[in-house]
Amino acid sequence: MTKAIDQTFTSALTGWYRQNRRDLPWRQDKDPYHVWVSEIMLQQTRVEAVREYYIRFMKALPDVQALAEAEEQTLLKLWQGLGYYNRVRNMHKAAVAVKEEHGGVFPYDYEGLRSLPGIGDYTAGAIASICFDQRVAAVDGNVLRVYSRLNEDAGDVKGTVMKKKVSLELQELYPSEDCGDFTQGLIELGALICVPAGQPRCGSCPVSQYCKAAENGTALLYPVKREKKQRKKVQKTVFLFQCGDKLAVEQRPDTGLLAGMYQFPNVDEAMDAADAVRQAELWGVCPRDLQRRVDYTHVFTHVEWEMQAYYMTVECEDCRFIWANRDQLKKDIPLPSAFRYFLE
Ligand code: SF4
Repeated sequence: MTKAIDQTFTSALTGWYRQNRRDLPWRQDKDPYHVWVSEIMLQQTRVEAVREYYIRFMKALPDVQALAEAEEQTLLKLWQGLGYYNRVRNMHKAAVAVKEEHGGVFPYDYEGLRSLPGIGDYTAGAIASICFDQRVAAVDGNVLRVYSRLNEDAGDVKGTVMKKKVSLELQELYPSEDCGDFTQGLIELGALICVPAGQPRCGSCPVSQYCKAAENGTALLYPVKREKKQRKKVQKTVFLFQCGDKLAVEQRPDTGLLAGMYQFPNVDEAMDAADAVRQAELWGVCPRDLQRRVDYTHVFTHVEWEMQAYYMTVECEDCRFIWANRDQLKKDIPLPSAFRYFLE
């Protein structure tokens, strides 16, 4: 028979967290800037991938003031490869708001944090509990998975109703101090023990005696999966125009997917070689020869780009594009992974 989830659950989890927490660069202190940057980076990205990005970001922009004053190109470059670039744009807006509206000091309550651009329920809860010791939950996918297994709850973990319910129930379980250890204990449990892929490690779980799924051997049935919407597929023809040691790029529009980033010229259709050469001429580029074609599919959250790229040597630089050598493309120009593939 499982134990009822009460304050003893909280102590078991926080005690386990203190003994087993991973040593991560953003866990060295409780500075809200550090916690905030790491939480935004960790959205949709693995801890191991974030580590280096975080260290580099902190070296370049050590505090909220430096972030508020940073140029967009610098930010995009620091973020290059992490994807979902609106995250860093919103961070910049939030840093400006902290500087201009809060005298350079982070708001210390949930509502104040929540009012900043790009800070949603989860991030506000994480910062408020970890940095300001407030009894507010931070409910992400890890926490929802743990909760649904503990309670054998078949609710829709993608929906707001379930999130709200979990958030309210967890709030009741928060300790009176060191609230951040409870928040991070739940997240850490989901990352290390009650894992998303494969069998959870119930034998090593500090809260298994509270878990209905462990008792009934049903952990893999939770959270209940619902049918995913099919991703939209977009065909693209990409042009790698090479003139001397330079390649042509252009800036993307400042709204929409990968806004403001750079790209190799491209069109939203699959072209054969003859049409690709004609398209190049329409842009005022004079192709000398078409060297090869490379195909690559890049998957975003809601859309898949099925790309075919033509490498062409061209004669003129006198056209609408910006020309940059490989070194500049790697170091100075924010080129998203979807296009960087062709460079590499
Ligand atoms: Fe997850 Fe198993 Fe722990 Fe339950 S006992 S919370 S299923 S790891």
